[in-house]
Amino acid sequence: MAKAAVFTGVNEPFEIREYELTTPPKGYARISILASGVCGTDMHIHRGKLGIVPPKIIGHEYVGKVEEISAEDSNKYGISAGDNVIVNIACPCGECLLCKTSDDANCINMGVTNGGDPEESPHFWGGYAEVNYSPVKNLIKVPKGLDPKTVSVFACAGSTAIHAFNLGKRANVSMENVNVAVVQGLGPVGMFAAGYLVAMGIEHVIAITGFVDEKREEIARSFGVSKVFSLDINSLDDVIAYIKSISDGLGADLVFEASGNVHAVPQGIQMLRNRGVYLVPGQYSASGGVMFNPELITFKAIQIIGSSQYSVSDVISYLEFLEENPGLHPVIDSMITEYPVSKVNEAFEDIKAAKNIKTILVGE
Ligand SMILES: [Zn+2]
Ligand SMILES: [Zn+2]
Repeated sequence: MAKAAVFTGVNEPFEIREYELTTPPKGYARISILASGVCGTDMHIHRGKLGIVPPKIIGHEYVGKVEEISAEDSNKYGISAGDNVIVNIACPCGECLLCKTSDDANCINMGVTNGGDPEESPHFWGGYAEVNYSPVKNLIKVPKGLDPKTVSVFACAGSTAIHAFNLGKRANVSMENVNVAVVQGLGPVGMFAAGYLVAMGIEHVIAITGFVDEKREEIARSFGVSKVFSLDINSLDDVIAYIKSISDGLGADLVFEASGNVHAVPQGIQMLRNRGVYLVPGQYSASGGVMFNPELITFKAIQIIGSSQYSVSDVISYLEFLEENPGLHPVIDSMITEYPVSKVNEAFEDIKAAKNIKTILVGE
């Protein structure tokens, strides 16, 4: 038997249920979960913003150890019992126009591995559990030297941010020409994006938050962010004046929207220089509309690039980034607050009270 936290209804407490362990179905592996991140998306699901129908074992960014896998699947996919893996829940169709043109992150027939009914065997479909069954083709091997907990922190956020940068590259955005970058929001996606931009050698990486949060600011500084502004104490005009002061009066070369606040979008456009680039992976829930002046898109001749989801290649890039930047691991680890799966409701209360930077669920 093992435990799972089951999402049973919008804003309802998760129910802790226990289920039998079984032999994995054909093509599946059994994984013991070592670290399962709580993502902003999970908060949206719990609040009923994404229309997920209960009962479900949610959780889509998790790292585990392979416990049981058939010899046939092991040979086919190069994954063995004992390997640590990231589980990628996305199942693009492989057939549609998007899948056939290197955009499987935005497949129009996207399926997920964690959508099963927990009452149906093998029960453990998603990440909010001690155990998980996933298709072997959805497992991405974690290199031996990386700590699974460290990996779990940005498993989704890091891959999401890297995907946005990659879509930028595909639109011919040259990061070598970026000297001033602004990140809006210091949740996991924004925090990772800021650290990634610093690691790419960008001189001025500025972060903007909605309200003062000293711990978040300290972590951002540890990632090498040069300046943090909080819009409850700094006016937008002050922020723009600062950006202009370090860019010969031009504005930011690149702005990365990771706040999810709709008001951030017109602000981000104002911060950009002429021909600047706006990457927008952060607006991941229906939060209403916002007024802005589209003339700025034309007059400034900016590029606005949306981005959602990520591909397996982005997860691999994320793991490579972690391997190449061991100096960041202690900072990443300092973001973690962990709870056993059975304390998931306590974890959600603490997240809502803004107590945690990154919440992960672990086995007992
Ligand atoms: Zn996520
Ligand atoms: Zn497709």
